[in-house]
Amino acid sequence: MDDVSTGSDSDYSNSWISWFLASKGNEYFCEVEEDYILDRFNLTGLAPECANYSQALDLITDNLADDDIEEELRASVEVQARFLYGLIHARWIITSRGLAKMLEKYKKADFGRCPRVLCHSHPLLPIGLTDTAYEKAVKLYCPRCEDLYSPKSSRHGSIDGAYFGTTFPHIMFMVYPTMVPMKAPDGVQSTRDRDARNEKGAPSGIGTASSAAVALKAERYRPTIFGFQVNEIAKLQRWQDAMRDRQVARLEAAESEKH
Ligand SMILES: [Zn+2]
Repeated sequence: MDDVSTGSDSDYSNSWISWFLASKGNEYFCEVEEDYILDRFNLTGLAPECANYSQALDLITDNLADDDIEEELRASVEVQARFLYGLIHARWIITSRGLAKMLEKYKKADFGRCPRVLCHSHPLLPIGLTDTAYEKAVKLYCPRCEDLYSPKSSRHGSIDGAYFGTTFPHIMFMVYPTMVPMKAPDGVQSTRDRDARNEKGAPSGIGTASSAAVALKAERYRPTIFGFQVNEIAKLQRWQDAMRDRQVARLEAAESEKH
């Protein structure tokens, strides 16, 4: 309530976007550059999604004077501006400049860290379960265990997943393949191996490093009772290990053929 109606009048921020980004609970968002928002081509199809679209857009781009709208309308335009910014954000973060901004946030672990013990606090990335607004809240994707988690704080847990979309983390790792984490505990060494391979002119992309080596090193938890593996899970894991060994053998054969 303290920060809703002041908007661009705030003493600290000189634009609506910097006010929005500085507001508590908006830490997952990155700055969408004004050039991107002002290019109407990028906003194609958003107008019907958003009530008071033109006022909301004017507010985001600081073109809405205080006396342009009545007080009652102002609150609703504020809400719509945040909604519109979210939809623009989902498009922006899969552009090259948007990806670079989100990569910086990922490196700083702005989206939190994986709670799984064997992921060793690996940084997470925000993801939507659907690209349609008002359906599912944002979740967090761990690229190490390739699973999803709910945000810890309820402020983050109530953000619409459509503001990030279903594609973002995966396109980020396609554009920055060296950022794909290794499954092994010794990630640093493995990344170096992969960089060395990349320099030799191997095709770039996920899985450039020896897939066989990655599969063999994957770290996972094995339940035991007094040191003995628990029956059902042990059976399943033996089967999974056998499948993995067959796959590793196939990958090694394929890799030795190339050399
Ligand atoms: Zn994880």
